[in-house]
Amino acid sequence: MAEYLTKLFIDGSWQDAISGETFAVINPADGSELVRIADANAEDMLKAIDSAQKAQAGWAATPALERSRILRKAAEIARADIDRLAHVLTMEQGKPLAQALGEITYGLDFIEWFAEEARRTYGTTVPSTGPDKRIVAIKQATGVSVAITPWNFPALQILRKLGAALAAGCAMIVKPAALTPLSALEIGKYFAEAGLPDGVLQVVTSSRASRVSEAIMSDSRVRVVSFTGSTEVGKVLMREGSTTMKRLALELGGHAPFIVFEDADLDHALEQLISVKMRNMGQTCVSANRIFVQRSIAEEFTRRVVERLSSMKVGFGTESDVEVGPLINAGAVDKVESHVADAIANGATVAAGGKRPSGAALANGHFYEPTVLTGVTDEMIIARDETFGPVAPIFEFDTEEEVIERANNSPFGLAAYFFTRDVNRLVRVSEALEYGTVGANDGSISAVQAPFGGVKESGIGREGGHWGMDDYMDIKYISLAGLTRP
Ligand code: NAD
Repeated sequence: MAEYLTKLFIDGSWQDAISGETFAVINPADGSELVRIADANAEDMLKAIDSAQKAQAGWAATPALERSRILRKAAEIARADIDRLAHVLTMEQGKPLAQALGEITYGLDFIEWFAEEARRTYGTTVPSTGPDKRIVAIKQATGVSVAITPWNFPALQILRKLGAALAAGCAMIVKPAALTPLSALEIGKYFAEAGLPDGVLQVVTSSRASRVSEAIMSDSRVRVVSFTGSTEVGKVLMREGSTTMKRLALELGGHAPFIVFEDADLDHALEQLISVKMRNMGQTCVSANRIFVQRSIAEEFTRRVVERLSSMKVGFGTESDVEVGPLINAGAVDKVESHVADAIANGATVAAGGKRPSGAALANGHFYEPTVLTGVTDEMIIARDETFGPVAPIFEFDTEEEVIERANNSPFGLAAYFFTRDVNRLVRVSEALEYGTVGANDGSISAVQAPFGGVKESGIGREGGHWGMDDYMDIKYISLAGLTRP
């Protein structure tokens, strides 16, 4: 039985909530209670903001090389403990262990990437208008930052925000999702062990997201809020943040089209689809939600998708041969069921799955079989809302022009994928898709050095690459005048 951290990490020490209250963390694979942990309220968040504010100036003034060293040290400590952390993540979130390991590895790559970027926050000098003047632009840490993160990637979503914030010289308070707070506490521990000064990173777990977030959004000392989660909550934060004019980085929902043209390499497209669709049981913001297949190849491609999805093993993520774990909670399964029921009622056909698995072994967990739906149309709920589950709805199309119009017909604009062997089409379609991130013959779009993010209602800002630092740095223009020569 794993040992879990259970207290808030504030001002460099592990503390109970001021109220003494706790909440339960549940294993989605069997419904059992893993542990009870501290349940912060607004007063605890204020305590964390006080401590972050106290630490902010010192951290911003710490030389970039030293910040970089501490980041790399924390990544090294975490990597040495990766198997245990992956186990914690799978227990709280459900994903298969191999995926938990992949998530953490990728998250730590961000810490190392930003450790390097810390050294390159260059300023600029600009030719001035007169001989007695100089124009200089420098980058400075924006100030105290807060990360509010979702449950689907409990480690990654924190690590990529944290790497950028700390590298830039910003203290950060992490408010993880109440469903998956345990990995976040572990991350706090690694950074403390690496020698991060007290107050520079704090982890505040809470089951009262809106109350805690009101304390954050109304406090003018918090300058940056980086949020990953639903578009609905993103809009709430945007409204609340306006009172203190916060800088907001928003990574929100998606409804990714995955387009397979008849001239595509179908073996490759299939491999990429299975991975994009089934990672984290379909609970990702970049999951292939609308699979558009050109009519001439639709039957053959669908047959192969059915074959692959039907052979995937469903079960506890801690078992090594399991490929599909549980969904996060009962509500998630209900949502999937309602999307599938609506599709069937409106004429779709279930070609694989379409139900919860039978049998006593999985009865207490939140499982749903990998599912393929055919005959899906743009009027069905599944064509508009994120399903966030292991369902592959197949839409047929005839022409390039038609599919681009249908793919863009969404308020979301996070990720899109398409597959073709035609070089001209590769350029044309890449440019025509109204999405922040496009996989052209590629489903593996994750890369620490790339600018990931969305357009339209999928958010504001980019995470990763050198762009990832921008949210945490202000540009200061210094106009130097009155210079004289001897
Ligand atoms: P969510 O919006 O319900 O929760 C995200 C975070 O916000 C959690 O920490 C939660 O506790 C907190 N929260 C909830 N209500 C709040 C409120 N009123 N005020 C302040 N904070 C609040 O999202 P979720 O269900 O945890 O995650 C799934 C969603 O996240 C999906 O829409 C998915 O597409 C999106 N997502 C986006 C990305 C991306 O990079 N664009 C990545 C992963 C997930």
